Amino acid sequence: MNAETYPFVVRPLPYEYDALIPVLDEETMHFHHDKHYKTYVDNLNSALADYPELQRLSLKELLSDIEALPAQIRTPIRNNGGGVYNHELYFDSMKNPVGQEPEGALAAAIDRDFGSYKQWKEQMKQAAVTKFGSGWAWLVTDNKGQLSIVQTANQDVPDLQEYTPVFLIDVWEHAYYLQYQNRRVEYAEGWFDLINWRKAGKRYEDALGGCI
Ligand code: MN
Repeated sequence: MNAETYPFVVRPLPYEYDALIPVLDEETMHFHHDKHYKTYVDNLNSALADYPELQRLSLKELLSDIEALPAQIRTPIRNNGGGVYNHELYFDSMKNPVGQEPEGALAAAIDRDFGSYKQWKEQMKQAAVTKFGSGWAWLVTDNKGQLSIVQTANQDVPDLQEYTPVFLIDVWEHAYYLQYQNRRVEYAEGWFDLINWRKAGKRYEDALGGCI
């Protein structure tokens, strides 16, 4: 994913707006995708409009070395480019119907790096519910397949030169407030049922170059 370049386009959800009920309702998905995510896409394109030399770069390339960008565009790229990257991965990390479980190399790596699925889930949930303010909790892998849970603030991404994201949970209030109000824990608990483990497993294996 994220291989395309400017002008970035709003990607449709890979499922219907009501596909994630009961964990995420249709209204939440419409606002999140059609308003919040779309705004990041529009603002990213506006930011890049006057920088033809940056329009050839993919989103990952833009976000991998923000310090290398012209000073006046770093913050717009960080916030809006991150907003696009993070939301595309978030929407693509969920699925319907519920019922998949971790399998294959990723399941084995979770057991190896966290002790068990149960222990991983507890740590992932803690990362999601303890992120102060707006941000994200991520499962990432390094290029050797070592998994880590990380938190980022706002629309920041992890170090994309060091890590490949496997999936992430949005803990901005806009991700859950319409349905859960302040009950972030309830949203986070429900989100585990939405994880698309098949795609996650493929992302993990792709990150290792298929050599596992
Ligand atoms: Mn969001």
